[in-house]
Amino acid sequence: EQKVVLITGCSSGIGLSLAVHLASNPSKVYKVYATMRNLDKKQRLLESVRGLHKDTMAILQMDVTDQQSILDAKRNVTEGRIDILVCNAGVGLMGPLEAHSLDTIRGILDVNLLGTLRTIQTFLPDMKRKRHGRILVTGSMGGLQGLPFNEVYCASKFAVEGACESLAILLQHFNIHVSLIECGPVNTDFLMNLKKTEASDEALEVDAHTRSLYDQYLQHCQSVFQNEAQDTDDIIQVYLEAIEAPTPFLRYYTNRALLPMSSLKLTSMDGSQYIRAMSKLIFSAPDTGPKI
Ligand code: NAD
Repeated sequence: EQKVVLITGCSSGIGLSLAVHLASNPSKVYKVYATMRNLDKKQRLLESVRGLHKDTMAILQMDVTDQQSILDAKRNVTEGRIDILVCNAGVGLMGPLEAHSLDTIRGILDVNLLGTLRTIQTFLPDMKRKRHGRILVTGSMGGLQGLPFNEVYCASKFAVEGACESLAILLQHFNIHVSLIECGPVNTDFLMNLKKTEASDEALEVDAHTRSLYDQYLQHCQSVFQNEAQDTDDIIQVYLEAIEAPTPFLRYYTNRALLPMSSLKLTSMDGSQYIRAMSKLIFSAPDTGPKI
Protein backbone atom coordinates (compact mmCIF):
# COMPACT_ATOMS: atom_id res chain seq x y z
CA GLU A 1 0.00 0.00 0.00
CA GLN A 2 1.30 3.43 -0.98
CA LYS A 3 2.10 5.99 1.68
CA VAL A 4 -0.12 8.99 1.08
CA VAL A 5 1.74 12.29 1.46
CA LEU A 6 0.24 15.78 1.35
CA ILE A 7 2.63 18.73 0.99
CA THR A 8 1.78 22.43 1.19
CA GLY A 9 3.54 25.11 -0.86
CA CYS A 10 4.60 22.98 -3.84
CA SER A 11 4.76 25.62 -6.58
CA SER A 12 8.44 26.23 -5.81
CA GLY A 13 11.39 25.54 -3.56
CA ILE A 14 11.52 22.84 -0.93
CA GLY A 15 7.89 21.79 -1.39
CA LEU A 16 8.30 21.34 -5.13
CA SER A 17 11.55 19.38 -4.76
CA LEU A 18 10.13 17.12 -2.08
CA ALA A 19 7.00 16.43 -4.13
CA VAL A 20 9.07 15.59 -7.22
CA HIS A 21 11.47 13.40 -5.29
CA LEU A 22 8.81 11.34 -3.53
CA ALA A 23 6.64 11.01 -6.65
CA SER A 24 9.67 9.77 -8.61
CA ASN A 25 10.39 6.90 -6.24
CA PRO A 26 10.96 3.96 -8.61
CA SER A 27 9.04 1.55 -6.38
CA LYS A 28 6.14 3.99 -6.25
CA VAL A 29 6.20 3.91 -2.49
CA TYR A 30 4.48 7.29 -2.23
CA LYS A 31 1.33 8.88 -3.51
CA VAL A 32 1.98 12.59 -3.33
CA TYR A 33 -0.68 15.27 -3.11
CA ALA A 34 1.30 18.33 -4.13
CA THR A 35 -0.76 21.30 -3.07
CA MET A 36 -0.32 24.95 -3.97
CA ARG A 37 -2.19 28.18 -3.41
CA ASN A 38 -2.31 29.10 -7.07
CA LEU A 39 -2.76 26.33 -9.64
CA ASP A 40 -1.60 28.71 -12.38
CA LYS A 41 1.87 28.05 -11.03
CA LYS A 42 1.78 24.28 -11.50
CA GLN A 43 3.84 24.33 -14.71
CA ARG A 44 7.18 24.29 -12.96
CA LEU A 45 6.19 21.26 -10.91
CA LEU A 46 4.85 19.47 -13.98
CA GLU A 47 8.06 20.17 -15.88
CA SER A 48 10.12 18.90 -12.97
CA VAL A 49 8.31 15.57 -12.75
CA ARG A 50 8.84 15.09 -16.48
CA GLY A 51 6.12 12.91 -17.83
CA LEU A 52 3.05 11.49 -16.25
CA HIS A 53 2.96 10.48 -12.66
CA LYS A 54 -0.70 9.69 -12.49
CA ASP A 55 -0.29 6.95 -9.94
CA THR A 56 2.23 8.78 -7.76
CA MET A 57 1.25 12.44 -7.90
CA ALA A 58 -1.82 14.65 -7.94
CA ILE A 59 -1.86 18.42 -7.76
CA LEU A 60 -4.47 20.13 -5.62
CA GLN A 61 -5.29 23.74 -4.89
CA MET A 62 -4.76 24.65 -1.26
CA ASP A 63 -4.23 28.03 0.33
CA VAL A 64 -3.22 27.55 3.95
CA THR A 65 -4.89 30.83 4.86
CA ASP A 66 -8.23 29.58 3.56
CA GLN A 67 -9.90 26.93 5.71
CA GLN A 68 -12.36 26.00 2.98
CA SER A 69 -9.58 25.29 0.50
CA ILE A 70 -7.91 22.99 3.03
CA LEU A 71 -11.18 21.11 3.52
CA ASP A 72 -11.68 20.90 -0.26
CA ALA A 73 -8.17 19.51 -0.70
CA LYS A 74 -8.84 16.94 2.02
CA ARG A 75 -12.02 15.87 0.28
CA ASN A 76 -10.07 15.36 -2.94
CA VAL A 77 -7.68 12.84 -1.43
CA THR A 78 -9.12 9.70 -2.97
CA GLU A 79 -7.43 7.34 -0.51
CA GLY A 80 -9.37 9.02 2.29
CA ARG A 81 -6.27 9.25 4.48
CA ILE A 82 -2.98 11.07 4.81
CA ASP A 83 -0.05 9.10 6.21
CA ILE A 84 2.48 11.92 6.02
CA LEU A 85 1.48 15.57 6.25
CA VAL A 86 4.14 18.11 5.26
CA CYS A 87 3.49 21.69 6.38
CA ASN A 88 5.93 23.60 4.26
CA ALA A 89 4.21 26.74 2.96
CA GLY A 90 5.76 29.88 4.36
CA VAL A 91 6.78 33.43 3.60
CA GLY A 92 9.52 35.67 4.90
CA LEU A 93 9.42 39.29 5.95
CA MET A 94 12.42 41.56 6.36
CA GLY A 95 12.79 45.12 7.44
CA PRO A 96 12.67 47.31 10.54
CA LEU A 97 9.67 46.32 12.64
CA GLU A 98 8.24 49.84 12.65
CA ALA A 99 8.22 49.86 8.85
CA HIS A 100 5.68 47.02 8.64
CA SER A 101 1.95 47.63 8.69
CA LEU A 102 -0.09 45.50 11.05
CA ASP A 103 -1.81 44.02 8.00
CA THR A 104 1.53 42.85 6.65
CA ILE A 105 2.43 41.37 10.03
CA ARG A 106 -0.95 39.64 10.25
CA GLY A 107 -0.45 38.26 6.75
CA ILE A 108 2.85 36.59 7.69
CA LEU A 109 1.42 35.09 10.86
CA ASP A 110 -1.60 33.93 8.89
CA VAL A 111 0.54 31.88 6.51
CA ASN A 112 3.40 30.72 8.71
CA LEU A 113 1.68 30.13 12.03
CA LEU A 114 -2.07 29.93 11.51
CA GLY A 115 -1.61 28.21 8.14
CA THR A 116 0.41 25.47 9.79
CA LEU A 117 -2.06 25.13 12.67
CA ARG A 118 -5.09 25.09 10.34
CA THR A 119 -3.53 22.39 8.20
CA ILE A 120 -2.61 20.21 11.16
CA GLN A 121 -6.04 20.74 12.77
CA THR A 122 -7.76 19.58 9.61
CA PHE A 123 -5.86 16.33 9.23
CA LEU A 124 -5.20 15.49 12.86
CA PRO A 125 -8.54 13.92 13.90
CA ASP A 126 -8.26 11.23 11.18
CA MET A 127 -4.66 10.48 12.14
CA LYS A 128 -5.64 10.22 15.79
CA ARG A 129 -8.51 7.89 14.98
CA LYS A 130 -6.20 5.65 12.97
CA ARG A 131 -3.47 5.87 15.60
CA HIS A 132 -1.06 6.48 12.77
CA GLY A 133 0.61 9.37 11.02
CA ARG A 134 3.53 11.68 10.58
CA ILE A 135 3.57 15.44 10.56
CA LEU A 136 6.64 17.11 9.11
CA VAL A 137 7.10 20.83 9.28
CA THR A 138 9.66 22.96 7.46
CA GLY A 139 11.27 24.79 10.34
CA SER A 140 13.95 27.42 10.28
CA MET A 141 17.00 28.55 12.22
CA GLY A 142 14.85 31.67 12.52
CA GLY A 143 12.51 29.58 14.65
CA LEU A 144 15.32 28.74 17.06
CA GLN A 145 17.16 32.02 17.31
CA GLY A 146 16.29 35.65 16.80
CA LEU A 147 17.58 37.56 13.80
CA PRO A 148 17.53 41.35 13.48
CA PHE A 149 15.10 42.71 10.89
CA ASN A 150 13.29 39.36 10.94
CA GLU A 151 11.23 39.94 14.06
CA VAL A 152 7.90 38.90 12.56
CA TYR A 153 9.26 35.96 10.60
CA CYS A 154 11.13 34.69 13.67
CA ALA A 155 8.07 35.21 15.86
CA SER A 156 6.02 33.11 13.45
CA LYS A 157 8.64 30.36 13.28
CA PHE A 158 9.27 30.36 17.04
CA ALA A 159 5.53 29.94 17.47
CA VAL A 160 5.52 26.96 15.12
CA GLU A 161 8.28 25.42 17.26
CA GLY A 162 6.11 25.80 20.35
CA ALA A 163 3.12 24.25 18.67
CA CYS A 164 5.07 21.29 17.30
CA GLU A 165 6.95 20.58 20.51
CA SER A 166 3.68 20.67 22.43
CA LEU A 167 1.95 18.40 19.95
CA ALA A 168 4.85 15.95 19.92
CA ILE A 169 4.39 15.25 23.62
CA LEU A 170 0.72 14.44 23.20
CA LEU A 171 0.77 12.73 19.85
CA GLN A 172 3.25 10.01 20.79
CA HIS A 173 0.24 8.51 22.61
CA PHE A 174 -1.46 8.24 19.22
CA ASN A 175 1.53 6.83 17.33
CA ILE A 176 1.79 10.12 15.46
CA HIS A 177 5.27 11.59 15.04
CA VAL A 178 5.95 15.29 14.64
CA SER A 179 9.25 16.37 13.10
CA LEU A 180 10.64 19.80 12.34
CA ILE A 181 13.19 20.02 9.55
CA GLU A 182 15.22 23.02 10.67
CA CYS A 183 16.69 24.71 7.63
CA GLY A 184 19.42 27.29 7.35
CA PRO A 185 19.60 29.26 4.12
CA VAL A 186 18.34 27.26 1.13
CA ASN A 187 18.60 28.14 -2.57
CA THR A 188 14.92 28.67 -3.40
CA ASP A 189 12.66 31.54 -4.38
CA PHE A 190 12.37 32.34 -0.68
CA LEU A 191 14.44 35.54 -0.83
CA MET A 192 12.64 36.64 -3.97
CA ASN A 193 9.22 35.82 -2.52
CA LEU A 194 9.78 37.36 0.86
CA LYS A 195 8.33 40.71 1.61
CA LYS A 196 11.23 43.06 2.03
CA THR A 197 11.53 46.71 2.80
CA GLU A 198 14.33 48.27 0.76
CA ALA A 199 16.90 50.03 2.89
CA SER A 200 17.21 52.62 0.16
CA ASP A 201 13.47 53.23 0.09
CA GLU A 202 12.99 56.96 0.62
CA ALA A 203 9.56 56.34 2.09
CA LEU A 204 11.06 54.14 4.77
CA GLU A 205 10.33 56.17 7.84
CA VAL A 206 13.00 54.97 10.19
CA ASP A 207 15.93 56.72 11.73
CA ALA A 208 19.27 56.89 9.95
CA HIS A 209 20.99 54.57 12.43
CA THR A 210 18.43 51.79 11.87
CA ARG A 211 18.71 52.35 8.14
CA SER A 212 22.47 51.87 8.12
CA LEU A 213 22.27 48.79 10.35
CA TYR A 214 19.63 47.39 8.01
CA ASP A 215 21.99 47.99 5.09
CA GLN A 216 24.67 46.03 6.92
CA TYR A 217 22.22 43.27 7.66
CA LEU A 218 21.16 42.97 4.03
CA GLN A 219 24.80 42.68 2.97
CA HIS A 220 25.39 40.03 5.60
CA CYS A 221 22.29 38.18 4.47
CA GLN A 222 23.39 38.25 0.85
CA SER A 223 26.81 36.85 1.65
CA VAL A 224 25.35 34.14 3.90
CA PHE A 225 23.05 33.02 1.08
CA GLN A 226 25.93 33.15 -1.40
CA ASN A 227 28.32 31.17 0.78
CA GLU A 228 26.21 28.87 2.88
CA ALA A 229 22.90 28.23 1.15
CA GLN A 230 22.10 24.58 0.62
CA ASP A 231 20.37 23.11 -2.39
CA THR A 232 16.91 21.70 -1.98
CA ASP A 233 18.34 18.22 -2.73
CA ASP A 234 20.27 18.39 0.55
CA ILE A 235 17.11 19.38 2.38
CA ILE A 236 15.18 16.52 0.80
CA GLN A 237 17.74 14.04 2.15
CA VAL A 238 16.99 15.25 5.66
CA TYR A 239 13.27 14.98 4.97
CA LEU A 240 13.80 11.38 3.83
CA GLU A 241 15.70 10.61 7.02
CA ALA A 242 12.74 11.78 9.06
CA ILE A 243 10.23 10.00 6.83
CA GLU A 244 12.09 6.70 6.92
CA ALA A 245 13.13 6.63 10.58
CA PRO A 246 11.09 4.11 12.61
CA THR A 247 10.89 6.63 15.43
CA PRO A 248 11.76 10.05 14.07
CA PHE A 249 13.16 12.87 16.19
CA LEU A 250 11.31 16.10 16.86
CA ARG A 251 14.10 18.12 15.28
CA TYR A 252 16.40 17.57 12.35
CA TYR A 253 19.02 20.12 11.36
CA THR A 254 19.96 20.48 7.71
CA ASN A 255 23.12 22.48 8.38
CA ARG A 256 25.13 21.51 11.43
CA ALA A 257 27.48 24.46 10.96
CA LEU A 258 24.75 26.79 12.16
CA LEU A 259 24.19 24.96 15.43
CA PRO A 260 26.93 26.43 17.63
CA MET A 261 25.26 29.85 17.47
CA SER A 262 21.99 28.40 18.57
CA SER A 263 23.63 26.46 21.40
CA LEU A 264 24.86 29.73 22.92
CA LYS A 265 21.28 30.20 24.04
CA LEU A 266 21.67 27.15 26.25
CA THR A 267 25.16 27.85 27.55
CA SER A 268 24.22 31.40 28.50
CA MET A 269 20.56 31.33 29.30
CA ASP A 270 20.38 35.04 30.08
CA GLY A 271 20.74 35.60 26.34
CA SER A 272 23.81 37.81 26.53
CA GLN A 273 26.23 35.51 24.70
CA TYR A 274 23.90 34.83 21.81
CA ILE A 275 23.08 38.51 21.36
CA ARG A 276 26.75 39.47 21.46
CA ALA A 277 27.80 36.74 19.03
CA MET A 278 25.02 37.42 16.54
CA SER A 279 25.55 41.14 16.72
CA LYS A 280 29.26 40.65 16.06
CA LEU A 281 28.60 38.31 13.20
CA ILE A 282 26.14 40.60 11.47
CA PHE A 283 27.31 44.07 12.35
CA SER A 284 30.98 43.21 12.98
CA ALA A 285 30.90 45.49 15.96
CA PRO A 286 30.37 43.72 19.25
CA ASP A 287 28.18 45.48 21.73
CA THR A 288 30.56 45.85 24.62
CA GLY A 289 27.80 46.55 27.08
CA PRO A 290 27.52 49.46 29.48
CA LYS A 291 30.81 51.19 30.17
CA ILE A 292 31.53 51.77 33.82
P1 NAD B 1 9.59 29.32 -1.61
O1 NAD B 1 9.19 30.74 -1.54
O2 NAD B 1 10.14 28.81 -2.88
O3 NAD B 1 8.41 28.35 -1.17
C1 NAD B 1 7.37 28.72 -0.29
C2 NAD B 1 6.09 28.21 -0.87
O4 NAD B 1 5.00 28.50 0.01
C3 NAD B 1 5.80 28.88 -2.21
O5 NAD B 1 5.54 27.89 -3.17
C4 NAD B 1 4.58 29.73 -1.92
O6 NAD B 1 3.72 29.85 -3.03
C5 NAD B 1 3.93 28.92 -0.81
N1 NAD B 1 2.93 29.70 -0.09
C6 NAD B 1 3.00 30.97 0.36
N2 NAD B 1 1.83 31.35 0.90
C7 NAD B 1 1.00 30.29 0.80
C8 NAD B 1 -0.35 30.04 1.17
N3 NAD B 1 -1.10 30.99 1.74
N4 NAD B 1 -0.89 28.82 0.91
C9 NAD B 1 -0.15 27.87 0.32
N5 NAD B 1 1.11 28.03 -0.08
C10 NAD B 1 1.69 29.24 0.16
O7 NAD B 1 10.68 29.14 -0.45
P2 NAD B 1 11.16 27.81 0.32
O8 NAD B 1 12.53 28.12 0.78
O9 NAD B 1 10.94 26.58 -0.47
O10 NAD B 1 10.20 27.83 1.59
C11 NAD B 1 9.57 26.69 2.11
C12 NAD B 1 9.61 26.75 3.62
O11 NAD B 1 10.98 26.72 4.04
C13 NAD B 1 9.01 28.00 4.25
O12 NAD B 1 8.20 27.63 5.34
C14 NAD B 1 10.21 28.77 4.73
O13 NAD B 1 9.92 29.57 5.84
C15 NAD B 1 11.16 27.64 5.07
N6 NAD B 1 12.57 28.03 5.13
C16 NAD B 1 13.22 28.49 4.03
C17 NAD B 1 14.54 28.87 4.12
C18 NAD B 1 15.31 29.40 2.94
O14 NAD B 1 16.39 29.95 3.12
N7 NAD B 1 14.85 29.24 1.73
C19 NAD B 1 15.22 28.77 5.35
C20 NAD B 1 14.54 28.28 6.44
C21 NAD B 1 13.21 27.90 6.32
